[in-house]
Amino acid sequence: MKATRALRAAGRLHTAAAPTARPRSSTGLLRRPALMRGSQTKSARSSLSRPGIGAWAQTAAAGLPSRSTAGARQPYSTDKLMGHDECLVSSEAPGFAFVFDIDGVLLHVAKPIPGASETLRYLHEHNIPFILLTNGGGKPEAERVRDLGERLGVHLTTANFVQSHTPFQDLVAGPEGLGDKTILVTGSDPERTRRIAEGYGFKMVVTPADILAAQPAIWPFDPLLESAYAATARPLPKPLWEPGMADGDALRLDAMFVFNDPRDWALDIQIIVDALASRGGLLGTYSARNGRADLGPGEGWQSDGQPALYFSNADLLWSAGYHLPRFGQGAFQAAVAGVWERLTGGVALRRTVIGKPYAETYRYAERVLAEYRREVLERTAGTTVGAANGAGEELRAVYMIGDNPESDIRGANEYESEAGTEWCSVLVRTGVWSPERGGGGRMAYRPTSIADDVRAAVRWALKREGWEGPPL
Ligand SMILES: [Mg+2]
Repeated sequence: MKATRALRAAGRLHTAAAPTARPRSSTGLLRRPALMRGSQTKSARSSLSRPGIGAWAQTAAAGLPSRSTAGARQPYSTDKLMGHDECLVSSEAPGFAFVFDIDGVLLHVAKPIPGASETLRYLHEHNIPFILLTNGGGKPEAERVRDLGERLGVHLTTANFVQSHTPFQDLVAGPEGLGDKTILVTGSDPERTRRIAEGYGFKMVVTPADILAAQPAIWPFDPLLESAYAATARPLPKPLWEPGMADGDALRLDAMFVFNDPRDWALDIQIIVDALASRGGLLGTYSARNGRADLGPGEGWQSDGQPALYFSNADLLWSAGYHLPRFGQGAFQAAVAGVWERLTGGVALRRTVIGKPYAETYRYAERVLAEYRREVLERTAGTTVGAANGAGEELRAVYMIGDNPESDIRGANEYESEAGTEWCSVLVRTGVWSPERGGGGRMAYRPTSIADDVRAAVRWALKREGWEGPPL
């Protein structure tokens, strides 16, 4: 809570429901507050870098010189690729880059979409930076990247990959960091989620299984305890609070993270709500501030040092193997919020939500992209290969290629780069969107362009950029 308060005070976090509930859009997504802009000098921005990417939601300007410092845009030419003199010393990547959604753009039910592998290989060969940005999660980044690389037949690394919970690692470090604090994590496989969190650097990670094993009465319908949870439960760092116990001797949760879609909603909701109603995150206590009318409407709730609650993905539904969409993490979030509102008499749940279309995720992605671009520049230093360029250029434009208007396209359209980078959105027809399935006539979130598939999308962008390399 402390970290969240500090970040919120700095304007760096949006909270999905402030003390007064934020208005909702027609889609149910929570509207975002105005972005922080212009609050840092350029020199301060340039000090931000990965790894140890810095505090959560710092500006996205690492490696992104300001628009005003940009040199004139230069046309690309195959002459330069052939080693024209002026390019022999150049080691610049182009002034544009790509961000790809995965499902429905590169893969469909784990199989490559035609043209996807060739497109990524083309970009790789021509030193055109790109990253993959997905609302999926649940596996360590290295494992997911290895799997994706094999499926797509393309070399990928964690340096150009961001999944829904990747930005959580920004909350580990720093004076307000949660690295040494006790956090609760859950997801599709809470034990694997714990290992992901530990891989990020969180040292004190608790799962619902640990809590249930320590106190089976906390959820008195425990058919899964022996069959599912006992094998993964670890001893809690401290015992659960009981009447008569000193607060300092009891387990205190400092933050709670939903990494991806939980499986055992009932247990998880019970524990999360217990913590949100507790005194200072001490599970088993109940805050005396809860429901106090004299504090203002709804102000007593979540105002007593309770742990902050984070969700990594707001998608209500997602496409899977079944012919109808399935519940996503957003459905779990709606369930938690619904229970909370019933318990509190209508008080909105305060939580922090990231993932597409939220600006935090785009800001994070832009930072990763800038760092990856720097790696490309270093890799091509002194070669003519990297001369397919607008030499000396800033990263002027990012093309977000996605299949979902509500997340990929909306997020790119609404994100405002602090470095002045233009974000364009290209909607492909290979995923959840089609003119027939909602959106043909009236689109709430219009892309910059629509393309048949990812290869056509990239061709369109290359043409727009005046790229004169070999045809894709
Ligand atoms: Mg998609």
